[in-house]
Amino acid sequence: MSTAARSAAAFREEAHEALGRPNLKTGLDRTIGLLQSRRHDVLAKYPEFEAAREIGSRIKDHTLAHLDHYLAEFEKNATAAGAHVHWAETPEEACRLVIDLCQKAEAKSVTRVKSMLGEEIGLPKALADAGIERVETDLAEHIIQLAEEPPSHIVIPAMHKTREEVADLFAVHHKEPKIGGEVGTLVESARHELRPKYVGADVGISGANFLIASTGSVCTVTNEGNAELTTELPRMHIVTAGIEKVVPTPEHALVLLRLLARSALGIEFTQYTSFFTGPRRPGETSGPEEMHIVLVDNGRTQMLAGEMRPMLRCIRCAACINHCPVYSVIGGHPYGSPYPGPMGSVLTPALQSLETAKDLPHACTLNGRCAEVCPVKIPLPDLIRSLRDDTWRRKLVPAPSRWAVKAWAAIAARPWLYRRAAAMASRTMRLWSRGKPMIARLPFAGGWTDTRDFPVPHGGTFMEQYKQKQGQR
Ligand code: SF4
Repeated sequence: MSTAARSAAAFREEAHEALGRPNLKTGLDRTIGLLQSRRHDVLAKYPEFEAAREIGSRIKDHTLAHLDHYLAEFEKNATAAGAHVHWAETPEEACRLVIDLCQKAEAKSVTRVKSMLGEEIGLPKALADAGIERVETDLAEHIIQLAEEPPSHIVIPAMHKTREEVADLFAVHHKEPKIGGEVGTLVESARHELRPKYVGADVGISGANFLIASTGSVCTVTNEGNAELTTELPRMHIVTAGIEKVVPTPEHALVLLRLLARSALGIEFTQYTSFFTGPRRPGETSGPEEMHIVLVDNGRTQMLAGEMRPMLRCIRCAACINHCPVYSVIGGHPYGSPYPGPMGSVLTPALQSLETAKDLPHACTLNGRCAEVCPVKIPLPDLIRSLRDDTWRRKLVPAPSRWAVKAWAAIAARPWLYRRAAAMASRTMRLWSRGKPMIARLPFAGGWTDTRDFPVPHGGTFMEQYKQKQGQR
């Protein structure tokens, strides 16, 4: 699978294909179960969680309401600290800026910290096209770079890979692979491979978890320490960040950092939380000579002005993804963007287009777990419902589905007709089943019966059973 910018247009086919991959389910089950139970345990020791969620969502809402002010403040303070701030409206503009900076630094090799914004704008491909070697330093990103695959999760990009598959990859690609499939051995092998690359890199590229307006700082969080090595050792540090990442002060970032670590990995705080403020100053012994921050819009100001605005509160913790029943069986690749699961079903139509990503809002059971776990209280099911409504109004739903829904609406609006239709359908299915408890094939319901059997209704319609029970009483 290519690492170029992806499209959500083939969601149905790719989801179908993913359902037939047994290794995928094994990889997902192992990690998702662990993440859910860890989150549950850490929140049991954090009684302020609900209050912190409320404060976190208000911080984000306030900043979004005054985004122009906080972005200007961030630019002023970052510039005063010696960094250069660049603005990019489109992914192409953002990539061009980064490549120009790399070429100015005569970069042959760049190290990179995991950044979904980098994936969103297609930076890996842009670097390859410019002939610049890219070294992914996050362990999971390193794995998928070797496998030449895009990320399938925003926090654990190689979630779809089993330990055994990773061991096979390292055995083929590492210069001196450590033998053995244990996690510790695999980590050691990756460290051995990556350490020399940090020292040889000309430019380090990172994303940002938060941009602090009052200090002009860039905040990154990792559990591997790779952000510090990536940004401190090369001559130039380039940051690519979405404009919605800005928060007013470090204290505001701290509230969100506490929510982020617990929601993402079920830990109280990430191992490495760094604030980078400008390049190396005179007298300092480490840090880059130049620091550049590329602030990317890519549809965000449009979201700010519309119904999808609450989605800009997202702090990319992936809790919604880890609790999504659809993601848990198909993984992240079918979503056709770096953002899978419920958050991707809202964000991708906004970033690509609703025409391209029209199937994503429909790939949802609307069970509401995503909204329950979201640490900044994004009403994901409401946003998904609103996008479904848009696909309907813009006639992006296939004609047969539209006719079926219209027919159902006409029947449902007339209770007497609905009762008769339901009774007739129930009887017809019982006849069709020929006494068996499940129906293997049902006309006009191939989308359901192709992959699972349909249960035969028992005991009449709800109203028939209700009347019968009333009579018994
Ligand atoms: S939508 Fe909420 S739960 Fe999902 S990644 Fe964003 S902040 Fe986390």
